[in-house]
Amino acid sequence: MRDAERQAALDGIGAEVAACTRCRLHEGRTRTVPGEGTAATEVVFVGEGPGFNEDRQGRPFVGQAGSLLDELLASVLWSRDEVFVTNVVKCRPPGNRDPEPDEIAACAQYLTRQLEVLDPALVVTLGRFSMARFRTGARIGQVHGTFRAAEAASGAPRALTFSMYHPAAALRQASLKQTLFTDMQGVPTALTEARALRAADQARGEPPAAIAPAPSPVAPEPPAIRPDSKPATDVTADAGVESDPTSQLGLF
Ligand code: SF4
Repeated sequence: MRDAERQAALDGIGAEVAACTRCRLHEGRTRTVPGEGTAATEVVFVGEGPGFNEDRQGRPFVGQAGSLLDELLASVLWSRDEVFVTNVVKCRPPGNRDPEPDEIAACAQYLTRQLEVLDPALVVTLGRFSMARFRTGARIGQVHGTFRAAEAASGAPRALTFSMYHPAAALRQASLKQTLFTDMQGVPTALTEARALRAADQARGEPPAAIAPAPSPVAPEPPAIRPDSKPATDVTADAGVESDPTSQLGLF
């Protein structure tokens, strides 16, 4: 699939989301927030759901949490326009409450289809609701800052998934901010590992997934999101696990 075809497919999904009434969250939304970024990327960030500002603007991760996400990306010499950013649910839960299981289930097909189009090498999950999709049964306090193979049912069966706290969590609990920045330093390493695993699969004769992502203008250290082909992967890598006794608030 060419980049233009990927973008057209993403636009089509966005149009379906804009008209969606599959769950009760459509009743209170101002705008849907399907996600945004480049269709030619190796890395997808997945948060929980739109908040107040996202609902008003129709864009993911704006406001304070979005600014912190931008800072996190900059800390590894990445930028928002090199990745794709989306959420588990595409409409704002009222009062910024947690999304309900039936709402997550109703909305799941959109994220699945976005991931099928993008075929990312790495999915970075922000918060426990996103993590649960790619890493069933894990506890964010135990696995944040680590990566492993994404579960096949996630929609990204050939990706690695890297678990992080949600940036909004650091706005509520200041001690998590340093944890987020520390964890973020491991994301480029996870991407490097994902590339190596895909290359190994390709060398074994697996067909390449498709398209080359856009070049990155960033510095050589840490590794940038660069134009690679996207071969298949089938991996079980898992970096070391950190413990963290932080709370179980929704965004964590
Ligand atoms: S949250 Fe998802 S499933 Fe629910 S109305 Fe919005 S787009 Fe549709």
